[in-house]
Amino acid sequence: MDSVANKPRCIVIGAGVAGIAAAVEATLLGMSVVLVEAHRYVGGRARSFRDELTGDELDNGQHVAMGCYQNLRHILRELGTESLLAPNDPVPIVFASARGERDVFNPYRWSGRLGVADGLLRLQSFSLAERLRLLIGGICASLGADREMTASDVLRACRQSESLIERFWEPLVLATLNAPVSIADGALLRAVLQRAIFGGGDSHYLLVPRAGLSKLWQPLERWLTERGGTIRLGTRAEDLVWLDDRVIGVATSTGEEIRGAAVIAAVPPKAYVRLLPQRYRSTVAFLAQLETMPIVSVYLWYDRPLVIPPVVGLWGTTAQWVFDRAAFLERSDDQQQRYPGHIEVTISAAHALAQQPTDAIVAHVNRELCTVFPQMKKARLLHWRVIKERSATPLLTPKTSRLRLSASSGIAGLYVAGDWTATGLPATLEGAAASGIAAARAAAQMA
Ligand SMILES: Cc1cc2nc3c(=O)[nH]c(=O)nc-3n(C[C@H](O)[C@H](O)[C@H](O)COP(=O)(O)OP(=O)(O)OC[C@H]3O[C@@H](n4cnc5c(N)ncnc54)[C@H](O)[C@@H]3O)c2cc1C
Repeated sequence: MDSVANKPRCIVIGAGVAGIAAAVEATLLGMSVVLVEAHRYVGGRARSFRDELTGDELDNGQHVAMGCYQNLRHILRELGTESLLAPNDPVPIVFASARGERDVFNPYRWSGRLGVADGLLRLQSFSLAERLRLLIGGICASLGADREMTASDVLRACRQSESLIERFWEPLVLATLNAPVSIADGALLRAVLQRAIFGGGDSHYLLVPRAGLSKLWQPLERWLTERGGTIRLGTRAEDLVWLDDRVIGVATSTGEEIRGAAVIAAVPPKAYVRLLPQRYRSTVAFLAQLETMPIVSVYLWYDRPLVIPPVVGLWGTTAQWVFDRAAFLERSDDQQQRYPGHIEVTISAAHALAQQPTDAIVAHVNRELCTVFPQMKKARLLHWRVIKERSATPLLTPKTSRLRLSASSGIAGLYVAGDWTATGLPATLEGAAASGIAAARAAAQMA
């Protein structure tokens, strides 16, 4: 076996999902990795922390994955935590509205595409003609989109009515692309449909983590050190180290200069620009045009079990998705007794809501939930937490998608990763993992 000294060194900046994936893949490809993270935790935007009062582990916003997240699953398999995501019981999605409408999308009666078709054709809130149109529209939208098309352009070209777009496609696009159909990149909708809905096997399974997100990355440090790598938390990369026009290392906030054969910058676009010397900044000035989209997550605890389905998509309310955390996460008997009802409510593309004070958000969301689920009127709200992630994901429109950088940055020795890079996927856990793997492969090839 090669000793660490003989292995080319790869420095990865940023321990979000993209940096974790880059570090794992570069190690598997025979490099010795130094992973440098500014914060004292790994996971970046996909992390969890403990709520002091209840002891519950809270994510920085509820995340869900899908069976088709192959890059993410590959990394988790290496770390030994894939089972925290694996489909235990398939989770059908219930739809509900304040007007008493109820529906269920259950694509699990049959495997693969047949299951998706069956799930669509059994939706009760749509007429038979509408269900057929949805199915044909979904196939059509998965086949192709011009570069300039928004998601709604694609859907209209696939003969989806305004009503179908509003009731079916808008919630799906908001959930998967974190942008309204009117501006979201149509090519990304196509990518989602191709992989998740028509990918076959368990691609379409909804995977809800069964532990706080940080648990997924917990074995990383040990995994890396056992393979000759290291991780430096609380260490910010301040500058790149150059030899002529080649990047040969990183200067850190702790005063170190770490040298290596390759540097992977797995940081958000603004942080990437800051790492570059002035002479290169003008070449990436366009990255300033990448706006971000907010997500507001509302965690609520009640004095009784709420008797609601595990995953609910809401129609016609500000609140968009409800997750029964008590159903997914392991909780102690004491937590179960003191705070029996524990849910999370997600609101994507939440520009207006993110401006409101948190107690107004809680009151509004709680009121909406009580109208959708009248049984909740009896439940007493004991505790709440609101997380406003103002820059949850980059806004990827047909125009801004073209600004995404490819893994080989165009600068010798430097590679880029992150959910905002050119993966052809939405800015998700899977996009981030795919970007990290692509950057590691490009780096290993050149090192
Ligand atoms: C509320 C919310 C809900 C979401 N829901 C979902 C979901 O349901 N499903 C899904 O698939 N995706 C979801 N996402 C998106 C997903 O979390 C992100 O796409 C993914 O985590 C991005 O990972 P990343 O590694 O690209 O970036 P980041 O997580 O931002 O990681 C970048 C890392 O770089 C570090 N860093 C920056 N500058 C430096 C420096 N100079 N030196 C050292 N370190 C540095 C940062 O501290 C950070 O840890 C959600 C995101 C949010 C916020």
